[in-house]
Amino acid sequence: MSTIERTFSFEFFPPKSDEAVQKLRAARTRLAQVRPDFFSVTYGAGGSTREGTVSTVLEMHAAGLPVAPHISCIGSNEQSIRQLLQTYRKVGIRRLVALRGDLPSGMAAGSPRFRYASDLVEFVRAETDRWFYIEVAAYPEVHPQARTAAEDLSNFVRKMRAGADSAITQYFFNPDAYLRFVQDARRAGVHEPIVPGVMPITNFAQLARFSDACGAEIPRWMRRRLEALGDDRESIRAFGLEVVASLCERLLAEGAPGLHFYTMNLAEPTLAIWSRLGLPA
Ligand SMILES: Cc1cc2nc3c(=O)[nH]c(=O)nc-3n(C[C@H](O)[C@H](O)[C@H](O)COP(=O)(O)OP(=O)(O)OC[C@H]3O[C@@H](n4cnc5c(N)ncnc54)[C@H](O)[C@@H]3O)c2cc1C
Repeated sequence: MSTIERTFSFEFFPPKSDEAVQKLRAARTRLAQVRPDFFSVTYGAGGSTREGTVSTVLEMHAAGLPVAPHISCIGSNEQSIRQLLQTYRKVGIRRLVALRGDLPSGMAAGSPRFRYASDLVEFVRAETDRWFYIEVAAYPEVHPQARTAAEDLSNFVRKMRAGADSAITQYFFNPDAYLRFVQDARRAGVHEPIVPGVMPITNFAQLARFSDACGAEIPRWMRRRLEALGDDRESIRAFGLEVVASLCERLLAEGAPGLHFYTMNLAEPTLAIWSRLGLPA
């Protein structure tokens, strides 16, 4: 397993207040010390969060950090995507995470030009050829809107064939779901890296909310243990560290080509897992 090239990355969301901007700067400085391959910054559906993504990305790029902006179909059209690609290309950004996104309630559907992430990947390739290394999303526990697991896999294969270079998964706590998904994708002809997404556990209520929304399953035994810990944050963190670090150990031992951490803009929970895994500090 030591011969595979691994990619480690840390995801942020754009901060919404001056205080959050300061906190993110502190987190990114701490996380940069372990030299991840890249940081990524999520992209929302509304105007101000989108501006937040662009300014966070440009600030990090100017600070010399490797950064990959997320871009999404929702609320986008050819012109807005073209403009975004130009903005990033002009400063020398070479990696993107291309997504469909989710429609916030009350927001009208965007241009039918970009219905699925595969449309966006195709467009980015047509517009900018090989300039960008394109990451896309994958769902080892099946995308919540997919009709069947088989259709979801075919849609994933289509998205990779549209020109993606690599995939990052939704987070999960069941390593077998990931290992089987990778096996099925390989059988379907996808040979690009599929990097597991990792969610550190710090807050049960928040984790349960996210997991319900994105279709990530919290196994019953974990749910029961976390519920029993109530508001005891320290014990939740200790339990979460134990569980998530062993998940990562197993994934890396089974050949996962890296890890993508959903940092929630916090350095400590990710660094605790990093150090438990014995990754270079
Ligand atoms: C690593 C990662 C990063 C993310 N970052 C963001 C972010 O920054 N901003 C954000 O808003 N969201 C983000 N998300 C969430 C993501 O936008 C949602 O999960 C969204 O619902 C699906 O996006 P996708 O790119 O996977 O969509 P797609 O690949 O387009 O798939 C969406 C659904 O459509 C189906 N489908 C795909 N193609 C077809 C087709 N041709 N015909 C019929 N059905 C089809 C798929 O099976 C799936 O059910 C992220 C998710 C991940 C895993």
